[in-house]
Amino acid sequence: MNFLRELQQELDALHARGNLRHLPRLEHDGRYVITPGNGRRMLNLSSNDYLGLAADTDLRREFLETLTPETFLPTSSSSRLLTGNFRVYDELEDELARRFGTEAALVFNCGYHANTGILPAVADAQTLILADKLVHASLIDGIRLSAPARCIRYRHNDTAQLERLVDEHSSRYHRLIIVTESVFSMDGDRADLRRLVALKRRYDNVLLYVDEAHAFGVFGPTGLGCAEEEACIADIDFLCGTFGKASASAGAYVVCSRTVRDYLVNRMRPFIFTTALPPVSVAWTLFVVRRLAAMNDRRRHVLRLGERLRTRLAAHGYASSSASQIVPMIVGPSADTVMRAEALQRHGFYTLPVRPPTVPEGTSRIRFSLTAALTEDEVDSIPL
Ligand code: PMP
Repeated sequence: MNFLRELQQELDALHARGNLRHLPRLEHDGRYVITPGNGRRMLNLSSNDYLGLAADTDLRREFLETLTPETFLPTSSSSRLLTGNFRVYDELEDELARRFGTEAALVFNCGYHANTGILPAVADAQTLILADKLVHASLIDGIRLSAPARCIRYRHNDTAQLERLVDEHSSRYHRLIIVTESVFSMDGDRADLRRLVALKRRYDNVLLYVDEAHAFGVFGPTGLGCAEEEACIADIDFLCGTFGKASASAGAYVVCSRTVRDYLVNRMRPFIFTTALPPVSVAWTLFVVRRLAAMNDRRRHVLRLGERLRTRLAAHGYASSSASQIVPMIVGPSADTVMRAEALQRHGFYTLPVRPPTVPEGTSRIRFSLTAALTEDEVDSIPL
Protein backbone atom coordinates (compact mmCIF):
# COMPACT_ATOMS: atom_id res chain seq x y z
CA MET A 1 0.00 0.00 0.00
CA ASN A 2 1.35 3.42 -1.01
CA PHE A 3 0.41 5.06 2.26
CA LEU A 4 2.67 2.85 4.36
CA ARG A 5 5.47 3.03 1.79
CA GLU A 6 5.33 6.83 1.87
CA LEU A 7 5.48 6.89 5.65
CA GLN A 8 8.41 4.46 5.63
CA GLN A 9 10.29 6.66 3.15
CA GLU A 10 9.94 9.60 5.49
CA LEU A 11 11.13 7.50 8.42
CA ASP A 12 14.12 6.36 6.35
CA ALA A 13 14.94 9.97 5.54
CA LEU A 14 14.81 10.87 9.24
CA HIS A 15 17.11 7.94 9.97
CA ALA A 16 19.57 9.08 7.30
CA ARG A 17 19.75 12.54 8.93
CA GLY A 18 20.27 11.09 12.41
CA ASN A 19 16.85 12.38 13.47
CA LEU A 20 14.84 9.16 13.82
CA ARG A 21 13.27 8.86 17.25
CA HIS A 22 12.16 5.80 19.11
CA LEU A 23 10.81 5.21 22.57
CA PRO A 24 13.55 4.16 24.97
CA ARG A 25 12.88 1.03 27.02
CA LEU A 26 13.76 1.94 30.56
CA GLU A 27 13.40 0.85 34.11
CA HIS A 28 13.60 3.41 36.90
CA ASP A 29 15.32 3.14 40.24
CA GLY A 30 15.21 6.51 42.01
CA ARG A 31 17.98 8.65 40.55
CA TYR A 32 18.98 5.89 38.16
CA VAL A 33 17.61 4.42 34.97
CA ILE A 34 18.36 0.92 33.75
CA THR A 35 18.18 -0.22 30.14
CA PRO A 36 16.73 -3.75 30.26
CA GLY A 37 18.55 -4.91 27.11
CA ASN A 38 22.07 -4.63 28.54
CA GLY A 39 21.22 -4.08 32.21
CA ARG A 40 23.20 -0.83 32.21
CA ARG A 41 22.50 1.31 35.25
CA MET A 42 22.94 5.03 34.61
CA LEU A 43 22.57 8.21 36.59
CA ASN A 44 19.59 10.03 35.13
CA LEU A 45 20.73 13.41 33.78
CA SER A 46 17.72 13.87 31.54
CA SER A 47 14.71 14.11 33.80
CA ASN A 48 12.84 17.26 34.80
CA ASP A 49 12.73 16.16 38.43
CA TYR A 50 14.61 19.35 39.30
CA LEU A 51 14.15 19.19 43.07
CA GLY A 52 14.70 15.44 43.25
CA LEU A 53 11.18 14.92 44.60
CA ALA A 54 10.19 12.18 42.16
CA ALA A 55 13.10 10.15 43.50
CA ASP A 56 12.17 10.81 47.15
CA THR A 57 10.50 7.71 48.56
CA ASP A 58 10.15 9.21 52.06
CA LEU A 59 7.99 11.99 50.65
CA ARG A 60 5.83 9.47 48.80
CA ARG A 61 5.47 7.37 51.94
CA GLU A 62 4.33 10.41 53.90
CA PHE A 63 1.72 11.14 51.23
CA LEU A 64 0.53 7.54 51.09
CA GLU A 65 -0.14 7.66 54.81
CA THR A 66 -2.73 10.36 54.19
CA LEU A 67 -4.71 8.07 51.88
CA THR A 68 -7.41 5.50 52.49
CA PRO A 69 -9.29 3.41 49.91
CA GLU A 70 -12.05 6.05 50.20
CA THR A 71 -9.74 8.99 49.48
CA PHE A 72 -7.53 7.27 46.93
CA LEU A 73 -9.46 8.33 43.85
CA PRO A 74 -7.72 7.17 40.68
CA THR A 75 -10.20 8.76 38.29
CA SER A 76 -12.46 11.79 38.13
CA SER A 77 -14.75 9.94 35.67
CA SER A 78 -15.82 13.21 34.05
CA SER A 79 -14.82 16.66 32.93
CA ARG A 80 -14.72 19.37 35.58
CA LEU A 81 -17.78 21.16 34.22
CA LEU A 82 -19.82 17.97 34.66
CA THR A 83 -19.12 15.75 37.68
CA GLY A 84 -15.31 15.76 37.66
CA ASN A 85 -14.78 18.79 39.88
CA PHE A 86 -13.68 17.21 43.14
CA ARG A 87 -13.01 19.42 46.16
CA VAL A 88 -9.28 18.84 45.97
CA TYR A 89 -9.23 20.85 42.73
CA ASP A 90 -10.68 23.88 44.52
CA GLU A 91 -8.22 23.38 47.37
CA LEU A 92 -5.28 23.35 44.98
CA GLU A 93 -6.51 26.42 43.12
CA ASP A 94 -7.16 28.30 46.36
CA GLU A 95 -3.69 27.36 47.58
CA LEU A 96 -2.07 28.57 44.35
CA ALA A 97 -3.98 31.85 44.28
CA ARG A 98 -3.10 32.47 47.94
CA ARG A 99 0.59 31.71 47.45
CA PHE A 100 0.91 33.77 44.28
CA GLY A 101 -1.27 36.53 45.72
CA THR A 102 -3.53 36.53 42.67
CA GLU A 103 -7.30 36.70 42.49
CA ALA A 104 -7.58 33.25 40.99
CA ALA A 105 -5.91 30.12 39.65
CA LEU A 106 -7.07 27.42 37.26
CA VAL A 107 -5.61 23.93 36.99
CA PHE A 108 -5.32 21.97 33.74
CA ASN A 109 -4.47 18.38 32.87
CA CYS A 110 -1.04 19.31 31.53
CA GLY A 111 1.06 22.16 30.23
CA TYR A 112 0.32 21.13 26.68
CA HIS A 113 -3.36 21.73 27.34
CA ALA A 114 -2.67 25.07 29.02
CA ASN A 115 -0.55 26.31 26.15
CA THR A 116 -2.82 25.04 23.39
CA GLY A 117 -5.95 26.28 25.13
CA ILE A 118 -5.42 29.68 26.70
CA LEU A 119 -4.25 31.64 23.64
CA PRO A 120 -6.96 30.33 21.28
CA ALA A 121 -9.58 31.17 23.94
CA VAL A 122 -8.54 34.80 24.29
CA ALA A 123 -7.15 35.70 20.84
CA ASP A 124 -9.31 36.93 17.96
CA ALA A 125 -8.84 38.51 14.51
CA GLN A 126 -7.91 41.83 16.13
CA THR A 127 -5.18 40.20 18.23
CA LEU A 128 -1.47 40.21 17.48
CA ILE A 129 0.61 37.57 19.26
CA LEU A 130 4.31 38.39 19.67
CA ALA A 131 6.17 35.22 20.60
CA ASP A 132 9.82 34.53 21.33
CA LYS A 133 11.43 32.51 18.55
CA LEU A 134 12.29 29.66 20.95
CA VAL A 135 9.00 29.12 22.77
CA HIS A 136 7.98 25.52 23.38
CA ALA A 137 6.11 23.48 20.76
CA SER A 138 2.96 23.55 22.90
CA LEU A 139 2.90 27.35 22.66
CA ILE A 140 3.51 27.21 18.93
CA ASP A 141 0.56 24.86 18.59
CA GLY A 142 -1.52 27.23 20.73
CA ILE A 143 -0.57 30.08 18.42
CA ARG A 144 -1.54 28.01 15.37
CA LEU A 145 -4.91 27.29 16.92
CA SER A 146 -5.37 31.01 17.55
CA ALA A 147 -5.89 31.82 13.86
CA PRO A 148 -7.21 34.25 12.63
CA ALA A 149 -5.05 36.08 15.18
CA ARG A 150 -1.78 37.09 13.59
CA CYS A 151 1.57 36.13 15.09
CA ILE A 152 5.07 37.56 14.77
CA ARG A 153 8.01 35.66 16.27
CA TYR A 154 10.73 37.93 17.65
CA ARG A 155 14.39 36.93 17.87
CA HIS A 156 15.14 34.91 20.97
CA ASN A 157 15.24 37.18 24.04
CA ASP A 158 15.68 40.23 21.81
CA THR A 159 13.61 42.64 23.85
CA ALA A 160 14.80 45.60 21.80
CA GLN A 161 13.27 44.06 18.66
CA LEU A 162 10.13 43.25 20.62
CA GLU A 163 9.89 46.87 21.78
CA ARG A 164 10.07 48.06 18.18
CA LEU A 165 7.37 45.57 17.14
CA VAL A 166 5.05 46.61 19.96
CA ASP A 167 5.60 50.26 19.14
CA GLU A 168 4.87 49.66 15.46
CA HIS A 169 1.77 47.52 15.94
CA SER A 170 0.07 48.61 19.15
CA SER A 171 -2.22 51.11 17.43
CA ARG A 172 -3.13 48.67 14.63
CA TYR A 173 -4.50 45.89 16.81
CA HIS A 174 -7.12 45.78 19.47
CA ARG A 175 -4.90 43.59 21.65
CA LEU A 176 -1.28 42.39 21.68
CA ILE A 177 -0.13 39.36 23.64
CA ILE A 178 3.58 38.88 24.35
CA VAL A 179 4.40 35.19 24.83
CA THR A 180 7.58 33.88 26.43
CA GLU A 181 8.99 31.25 28.72
CA SER A 182 10.82 32.43 31.83
CA VAL A 183 13.42 29.63 31.74
CA PHE A 184 13.74 28.30 28.20
CA SER A 185 13.44 24.54 27.98
CA MET A 186 16.26 23.74 25.59
CA ASP A 187 18.84 26.44 26.42
CA GLY A 188 18.16 27.00 30.10
CA ASP A 189 18.50 30.75 29.67
CA ARG A 190 16.07 33.25 31.14
CA ALA A 191 13.83 35.96 29.77
CA ASP A 192 14.17 39.47 31.17
CA LEU A 193 10.77 39.54 32.85
CA ARG A 194 11.28 42.98 34.41
CA ARG A 195 11.93 44.52 31.01
CA LEU A 196 8.94 42.74 29.50
CA VAL A 197 6.76 44.03 32.31
CA ALA A 198 8.10 47.58 31.85
CA LEU A 199 7.29 47.33 28.14
CA LYS A 200 3.79 46.04 28.73
CA ARG A 201 3.08 48.81 31.24
CA ARG A 202 3.65 51.48 28.62
CA TYR A 203 0.59 50.32 26.65
CA ASP A 204 -2.94 49.67 27.77
CA ASN A 205 -3.61 46.97 25.15
CA VAL A 206 -0.57 44.75 25.72
CA LEU A 207 -0.89 41.52 27.72
CA LEU A 208 1.89 39.26 28.97
CA TYR A 209 1.87 35.45 28.89
CA VAL A 210 4.72 33.68 30.69
CA ASP A 211 5.31 29.92 30.82
CA GLU A 212 7.25 29.01 33.97
CA ALA A 213 7.28 25.25 33.32
CA HIS A 214 11.01 25.00 34.05
CA ALA A 215 11.11 27.66 36.75
CA PHE A 216 8.21 26.69 39.03
CA GLY A 217 9.68 25.09 42.15
CA VAL A 218 13.24 26.08 41.23
CA PHE A 219 13.32 29.90 41.32
CA GLY A 220 11.87 32.45 43.69
CA PRO A 221 12.12 32.80 47.49
CA THR A 222 9.24 30.35 47.97
CA GLY A 223 9.72 28.42 44.73
CA LEU A 224 6.95 30.09 42.74
CA GLY A 225 9.23 30.83 39.80
CA CYS A 226 11.10 33.68 38.14
CA ALA A 227 8.15 36.08 38.39
CA GLU A 228 8.27 35.70 42.17
CA GLU A 229 12.04 36.24 42.12
CA GLU A 230 11.61 39.35 39.97
CA ALA A 231 8.65 40.55 42.08
CA CYS A 232 6.38 40.95 39.06
CA ILE A 233 3.67 38.30 39.52
CA ALA A 234 0.91 40.92 39.53
CA ASP A 235 2.06 42.33 36.18
CA ILE A 236 1.71 39.09 34.26
CA ASP A 237 -1.73 38.47 32.83
CA PHE A 238 -1.29 34.75 32.20
CA LEU A 239 1.31 33.26 34.53
CA CYS A 240 1.50 29.54 33.79
CA GLY A 241 3.49 26.61 35.05
CA THR A 242 3.43 22.84 35.06
CA PHE A 243 3.43 20.25 37.82
CA GLY A 244 5.24 17.51 35.88
CA LYS A 245 8.72 18.86 36.48
CA ALA A 246 10.03 20.28 39.78
CA SER A 247 6.82 19.42 41.63
CA ALA A 248 7.02 15.76 40.62
CA SER A 249 3.38 15.40 39.66
CA ALA A 250 1.21 16.07 36.60
CA GLY A 251 -0.92 18.96 35.44
CA ALA A 252 -0.50 22.69 34.97
CA TYR A 253 -1.85 25.99 36.24
CA VAL A 254 -2.47 29.56 35.32
CA VAL A 255 -2.68 32.23 38.00
CA CYS A 256 -4.67 35.20 36.81
CA SER A 257 -7.58 37.52 37.49
CA ARG A 258 -10.97 36.10 38.43
CA THR A 259 -12.41 37.34 35.14
CA VAL A 260 -9.77 35.54 33.09
CA ARG A 261 -10.42 32.38 35.05
CA ASP A 262 -14.19 32.60 34.50
CA TYR A 263 -13.60 33.28 30.83
CA LEU A 264 -11.32 30.26 30.40
CA VAL A 265 -13.80 28.00 32.17
CA ASN A 266 -16.32 29.02 29.52
CA ARG A 267 -14.15 29.23 26.44
CA MET A 268 -11.03 27.09 26.72
CA ARG A 269 -11.56 23.88 24.80
CA PRO A 270 -8.77 21.70 26.31
CA PHE A 271 -10.16 22.65 29.72
CA ILE A 272 -13.80 21.97 28.86
CA PHE A 273 -13.58 18.84 26.74
CA THR A 274 -11.38 16.52 28.74
CA THR A 275 -11.72 14.20 31.70
CA ALA A 276 -10.31 15.95 34.75
CA LEU A 277 -7.06 14.70 36.28
CA PRO A 278 -7.45 11.90 38.83
CA PRO A 279 -8.17 13.47 42.25
CA VAL A 280 -5.33 11.45 43.79
CA SER A 281 -2.93 13.10 41.40
CA VAL A 282 -4.26 16.55 42.31
CA ALA A 283 -4.00 15.65 46.01
CA TRP A 284 -0.33 14.75 45.51
CA THR A 285 0.27 18.04 43.69
CA LEU A 286 -1.31 19.92 46.59
CA PHE A 287 0.80 17.94 49.06
CA VAL A 288 3.98 18.92 47.16
CA VAL A 289 2.95 22.55 46.53
CA ARG A 290 2.42 23.02 50.28
CA ARG A 291 6.02 21.94 50.88
CA LEU A 292 7.70 23.91 48.09
CA ALA A 293 8.32 27.04 50.15
CA ALA A 294 10.50 25.06 52.56
CA MET A 295 12.76 23.66 49.85
CA ASN A 296 15.30 26.47 49.51
CA ASP A 297 18.18 24.08 50.20
CA ARG A 298 17.22 21.94 47.22
CA ARG A 299 16.79 25.03 45.04
CA ARG A 300 20.17 26.43 46.00
CA HIS A 301 21.83 23.07 45.50
CA VAL A 302 20.49 22.36 42.02
CA LEU A 303 21.28 25.90 40.84
CA ARG A 304 24.83 25.57 42.18
CA LEU A 305 25.17 22.30 40.27
CA GLY A 306 24.09 24.11 37.11
CA GLU A 307 26.78 26.73 37.65
CA ARG A 308 29.39 24.05 38.24
CA LEU A 309 28.54 22.17 35.07
CA ARG A 310 28.52 25.39 33.02
CA THR A 311 31.99 26.23 34.27
CA ARG A 312 33.24 22.78 33.30
CA LEU A 313 31.59 22.94 29.87
CA ALA A 314 33.06 26.40 29.22
CA ALA A 315 36.50 25.04 30.05
CA HIS A 316 35.92 22.41 27.34
CA GLY A 317 34.91 25.06 24.82
CA TYR A 318 31.13 24.69 25.08
CA ALA A 319 29.60 28.11 25.51
CA SER A 320 25.95 28.44 26.51
CA SER A 321 23.55 31.10 27.66
CA SER A 322 22.16 28.87 30.40
CA ALA A 323 21.37 30.50 33.74
CA SER A 324 19.53 27.61 35.35
CA GLN A 325 19.51 23.89 36.09
CA ILE A 326 19.14 23.17 32.36
CA VAL A 327 22.58 23.16 30.75
CA PRO A 328 23.00 22.37 27.06
CA MET A 329 26.14 21.03 25.46
CA ILE A 330 25.63 22.10 21.86
CA VAL A 331 27.37 19.61 19.59
CA GLY A 332 25.87 20.65 16.23
CA PRO A 333 25.31 17.76 13.82
CA SER A 334 22.69 15.25 14.92
CA ALA A 335 24.79 12.16 14.21
CA ASP A 336 27.66 13.46 16.38
CA THR A 337 25.22 14.32 19.15
CA VAL A 338 23.77 10.81 19.09
CA MET A 339 27.30 9.40 19.42
CA ARG A 340 28.12 11.71 22.32
CA ALA A 341 24.95 10.69 24.14
CA GLU A 342 25.77 7.01 23.61
CA ALA A 343 29.31 7.53 24.91
CA LEU A 344 27.98 9.26 28.04
CA GLN A 345 25.55 6.40 28.54
CA ARG A 346 28.40 3.88 28.31
CA HIS A 347 30.07 5.83 31.13
CA GLY A 348 26.93 5.52 33.25
CA PHE A 349 25.31 8.93 32.60
CA TYR A 350 21.89 8.81 31.01
CA THR A 351 21.77 11.70 28.57
CA LEU A 352 19.79 12.00 25.38
CA PRO A 353 20.43 13.73 22.08
CA VAL A 354 18.02 16.61 21.46
CA ARG A 355 17.62 17.08 17.74
CA PRO A 356 15.53 18.98 15.19
CA PRO A 357 12.65 19.71 15.15
CA THR A 358 12.89 20.16 18.94
CA VAL A 359 15.86 22.52 18.42
CA PRO A 360 16.93 24.49 15.31
CA GLU A 361 18.79 22.62 12.56
CA GLY A 362 22.54 22.41 13.26
CA THR A 363 22.18 22.92 17.04
CA SER A 364 21.65 19.35 18.18
CA ARG A 365 22.69 19.01 21.75
CA ILE A 366 22.96 17.04 24.92
CA ARG A 367 20.54 18.68 27.32
CA PHE A 368 21.79 18.16 30.85
CA SER A 369 18.82 18.48 33.10
CA LEU A 370 20.11 18.56 36.67
CA THR A 371 18.30 17.63 39.83
CA ALA A 372 18.86 18.36 43.50
CA ALA A 373 19.30 14.60 44.01
CA LEU A 374 22.73 14.78 42.34
CA THR A 375 25.98 15.50 44.15
CA GLU A 376 28.79 17.86 43.18
CA ASP A 377 31.14 14.87 42.74
CA GLU A 378 28.71 13.25 40.33
CA VAL A 379 28.47 16.42 38.25
CA ASP A 380 32.26 16.76 38.30
CA SER A 381 32.68 13.22 37.03
CA ILE A 382 30.58 13.60 33.87
CA PRO A 383 33.08 12.98 31.03
CA LEU A 384 32.89 16.00 28.69
N1 PMP B 1 5.82 24.33 28.52
C1 PMP B 1 7.12 24.06 28.44
C2 PMP B 1 8.09 25.19 28.41
C3 PMP B 1 7.56 22.73 28.41
O1 PMP B 1 8.86 22.45 28.33
C4 PMP B 1 6.60 21.69 28.45
C5 PMP B 1 6.96 20.21 28.43
N2 PMP B 1 8.21 19.82 28.49
C6 PMP B 1 5.27 22.03 28.51
C7 PMP B 1 4.90 23.35 28.55
C8 PMP B 1 4.21 20.97 28.50
O2 PMP B 1 3.93 20.59 29.80
P1 PMP B 1 3.30 19.16 30.09
O3 PMP B 1 4.43 18.20 30.03
O4 PMP B 1 2.69 19.30 31.44
O5 PMP B 1 2.28 18.91 29.01
